[in-house]
Formats: sequence, structure tokens, C-alpha cells
Amino acid sequence: MKRYDDVVEFHGHSCPGLALGYRVSLRALKEFRRRAEDEELVAIVENNSCAVDAVQVMTGCTFGKGNLIFRDHGKQVYTFIRRPSGKSIRISVIWERPEETKEEKRLWDAYAKGDRSKKVLDFVHSRKAAKIRQILDAEDEELFAVTKGKSALPPEAEIYQSTRCALCNEKVAEPKARTRDGMMLCIPCFDKKGNK
Ligand SMILES: [Zn+2]
Ligand SMILES: [Zn+2]
Repeated sequence: MKRYDDVVEFHGHSCPGLALGYRVSLRALKEFRRRAEDEELVAIVENNSCAVDAVQVMTGCTFGKGNLIFRDHGKQVYTFIRRPSGKSIRISVIWERPEETKEEKRLWDAYAKGDRSKKVLDFVHSRKAAKIRQILDAEDEELFAVTKGKSALPPEAEIYQSTRCALCNEKVAEPKARTRDGMMLCIPCFDKKGNK
């Protein structure tokens, strides 16, 4: 089983979003036990934040394998579906960061306005570290609302034949090629001239 350190190494830094994605993944793995070696687990993520990097490392649902599906809803919601049963778990993040004091609000404000003095930076770093700790230490119930059920499975990743673009001669997967004047074109070449 991968650990939080592995996730940080992949992502490049530790941050509250990553910590949330890590916890989401642990919750999903608790349900499904093992990570996706191939495509047996599918993740549908409704944002493209730091959290998704944790999901990829922890669950093995990755963009490249096609079992990570991005729906651009801007929501902290993660659905994991098991193949072939369709058994699913929907994890919605409900965690709220603790109320800030007036002084803390003032320091965040200063940071947002570009203040990079030692006092402000020390504050920001310690707040972030505290937030990460809180997320890593929280109970599942404080972090998530979980719904279990059955979900329709997205289609398996398909492997397509490729063809060559008549203009740039680079290879392009057939379903992505466009035709103009009887020529097969890649999307960038197709978009270059005409077809406005
Ligand atoms: Zn991050
Ligand atoms: Zn082309």
C-alpha cells in the first residue's frame, strides 16, 4: 500500500488538497480493498485539483489507463466503481476548515495582497501544515458524506487504429481525425484554416 509520502513525491509538494485526495483514496480502498492494477476500478473525479494526483497514486486509477474520468464540475466529489459488478461508492467532501481568528484573517489578507514578509510567510506555512495535519488525522465522518450503490460502468478504454494526417503527416487516432476535401486531417491542422 502506498503512503502519503509517495503521494507527496509524485505531486511535488504537500498541501491540504493532496491530503484530502489521500484520505478520499483510503476511504475508497477500504471499500474495495485493492488498487486498480488494470482497469477493475474506475474513478470519476469532479475536479482537477491537487487531490486527483493522490487518487492516481493511491488507487491506480490513472488518466493514462483510461480508468480516471474527469468531469469538470468544480466539486469535491469522487466516485469509485468496481468492474464488472458496478458496485460503487460516492465520496463527497464535507470537511470545513476551522473558523479563523481576526488576526489570522488579517494575515491571510496580507498574503493575498502580496505581502511576503517573514511574519506572513511563517503564518501561511504553519496554517497550511496545521490544515494538512487536521485532514490526515480527522475521522472519516468529519471528512466525507458517503453513498454506496450501483453505478453504470463507463465504457472500457479502447485502442484505436491510427492514420496519418494529410498535412503534417503525424499519426492520429482514427476517431479523432477530421475530413476535409477527402483528406484525413488531425485536429490542429483541421482547425488551422477554414472551417470557421
Ligand atoms: Zn498541491
Ligand atoms: Zn496534422
